[in-house]
Amino acid sequence: MITSKLPNVGTTIFTTMSQLAAQTGAINLSQGFPDFDGPDALREAVTRHVMAGHNQYAPMTGLPALREQVAAKVASLYGRAVDPEAEVTITPGATQAIFCAIQALVGQGDEAIVFDPCYDSYEPSVQLAGGTCIHLPLTLPDFAIDWQRLADAIGPRTRLIVLNTPHNPSGALLRRGDLDRLAALIRDRDIYVLSDEVYEHLVYDGAEHASVLRHEELYRRAFVVSSFGKTYHVTGWKTGYVIAPPALTAELRKIHQYVSFTGVTPLQWALADFMAQQPNHVLELPAFYQAKRDLFCDLLAGSRFGFQRAAGTYFQLADYSAIRPDLDDVAMARWLTQEHGVAAIPISVFYQEPPREARLVRFCFAKREDTLRQAAERLGAI
Ligand code: PMP
Ligand code: GLN
Repeated sequence: MITSKLPNVGTTIFTTMSQLAAQTGAINLSQGFPDFDGPDALREAVTRHVMAGHNQYAPMTGLPALREQVAAKVASLYGRAVDPEAEVTITPGATQAIFCAIQALVGQGDEAIVFDPCYDSYEPSVQLAGGTCIHLPLTLPDFAIDWQRLADAIGPRTRLIVLNTPHNPSGALLRRGDLDRLAALIRDRDIYVLSDEVYEHLVYDGAEHASVLRHEELYRRAFVVSSFGKTYHVTGWKTGYVIAPPALTAELRKIHQYVSFTGVTPLQWALADFMAQQPNHVLELPAFYQAKRDLFCDLLAGSRFGFQRAAGTYFQLADYSAIRPDLDDVAMARWLTQEHGVAAIPISVFYQEPPREARLVRFCFAKREDTLRQAAERLGAI
């Protein structure tokens, strides 16, 4: 019998709920992905590059043209000059970037601090590196960091703190002041930061994304991860990137070169072309997704679900305590899918110790207007 390295891990909730949605014919607002396509020019560029013979390995670190576009974006949005040669690495998805960053940082017996509810890939990655996760719950209802708990949790074995802003599943944002507090807490300690910023462009109501790339002190000890999948509506392309100071990037690349070596070549060419041609795409994303959030929330306003509009991401949490307080959120997500034809994600699965009082499910609003209208109609009838 094989001894499992991840004995407590099963199939992810995203696979489970998307399968249930497919089986039941429910509208799938569970797993986070758009039900519309990325820009025509971007998709056409892939065909062009495939036909032009860009089909062999890209450089291990990523296509230079794409790394240069990422550096240009970061300079213009966050005011940081990063060296595309030494600080930017293209990866096959943010998940792989997160995995490699964690392997680079965490060793046997080390501790990584994560904030619950947290994205499901962090803990298995830490465990495979020989470390353990210390789970600190974000405070409810705002999903904010409890600074006292964080200060108390930091100890001699703490090696890594994982941030995620905008935050999946809550949509909450960290602010500049949070980064200052974190920097002060870990100053003079051998602790690193992994900042998962895959929803960096999905911030609403005029808020600013508090990227670690804007923060001089934190950046010196950080890996910042993003995903082209979210930004260009092409989650299936599984292409992302990591930005980190040269010494950290060098360690990350030692691992990345043996996990995948490189990412898919024609996709990198297409993304580089599109970024050069349409730098405004990212600037238009907040308004594009805020309109979807507002449509979905306006339609839900007459329902028995309670909610505060998401500050970021393409996820909306909804409180169902007025509808089925008797059901835990896993049962509720199944009930919604099977009985009412709308699939959702329970948030308890992102906790080590789910808050007993919470009655929250997550809906993805990265959907066409007709999908959102149909889903909201079903939800409003419950
Ligand atoms: N981090 C978070 C918080 C996410 O929601 C996702 C979504 N897929 C990822 C990382 C992974 O991104 P990718 O699909 O590029 O691997
Ligand atoms: N990030 C996506 C979500 O939160 C899912 C990605 C996946 O299926 N692993 O829904």
